[in-house]
Amino acid sequence: MTGRRIVVTGGAGFLGSHLCERLVERGDAVVCLDNLSTGRVANVEHLFGRPGFTFVEHDVSTYIWVPGEVDAVLHFASPASPADYLALPIQTLKVGSLGTHNALGLSKAKGARFLLASTSEVYGDPLVHPQPETYWGNVNPIGPRGVYDEAKRFAEAMTMAYHRYHGLETRIARIFNTYGPRMRPDDGRVVSNLVVQALTGRPLTIYGDGTQTRSFCYVDDEVAGLLALLDSEVDEPVNIGNPDEYTVAELAQLVVGIVGRGEIEYHPLPVDDPVRRRPDITRARELLGWRPGIDLAEGLALTVDWFRRELGL
Ligand code: UDP
Repeated sequence: MTGRRIVVTGGAGFLGSHLCERLVERGDAVVCLDNLSTGRVANVEHLFGRPGFTFVEHDVSTYIWVPGEVDAVLHFASPASPADYLALPIQTLKVGSLGTHNALGLSKAKGARFLLASTSEVYGDPLVHPQPETYWGNVNPIGPRGVYDEAKRFAEAMTMAYHRYHGLETRIARIFNTYGPRMRPDDGRVVSNLVVQALTGRPLTIYGDGTQTRSFCYVDDEVAGLLALLDSEVDEPVNIGNPDEYTVAELAQLVVGIVGRGEIEYHPLPVDDPVRRRPDITRARELLGWRPGIDLAEGLALTVDWFRRELGL
């Protein structure tokens, strides 16, 4: 799919802006919608004036109407960092439910393909490891993270209902921890926190004892996987992530090694923080022919360089 007209909700966010950029580069026209609650105009400013790129400041939880033909709708609007969705709980529930309904409605009206940005959080604190798409998850609906997890689970259910009932062409990407340029320095996620802390000479904050694990995917790999899914015929959910698993303590050591300094400081573990997380990417490998190619050390070095420039250091 190139030379198409594509709507990206949350297009000024971290992942959304990289998607917009790749789509413009490959010759698609892009309508980027964002209410700028966690997104930033600076993320897409370099695309202003590029042929076919339009930015509209808009809250997709209210309604969405885009004049003209649309070939695909990529629904990426949502706070995604735990710190952000804990600060914006109602907005997070609304964009995952009402926003998804609106984005699906736009897709249906236009006969456009729909891609949902879902999440590894649908697996909650997983009891199956690594997580295949067939695992139903272990989510606390009334815990603080429930506002994100349940909104995304509802979004998946709504997407499948539009697929089954209306015959809409739908794609569901379950995105695992992604990092890289354009993360907000203050977004509260572990990679941005540790990198910014190391670069500015502050202690690196490890929550809990640092033995919990995550599997980190560099943003360029993630976007390549998302576009492979968009262009595929796969309507089942697909994990898009990097299966290399690290403890948070190992991640901190890597950051210290790259930046060349950093004291560690221990803080309490947030409520319901998943103990371990690692995608089983068999489905993505077999059905999309996709796998990540950038390892954590390489991706972190690129991310550190970017933050250095961003922070003017
Ligand atoms: N974390 C940490 N220090 C930080 C921020 C996060 O140790 O400054 C931990 C957090 O408790 C979790 C992991 O790092 O175990 C990943 O957190 P993040 O907020 O990046 O995303 P999550 O995977 O929890 O959605």
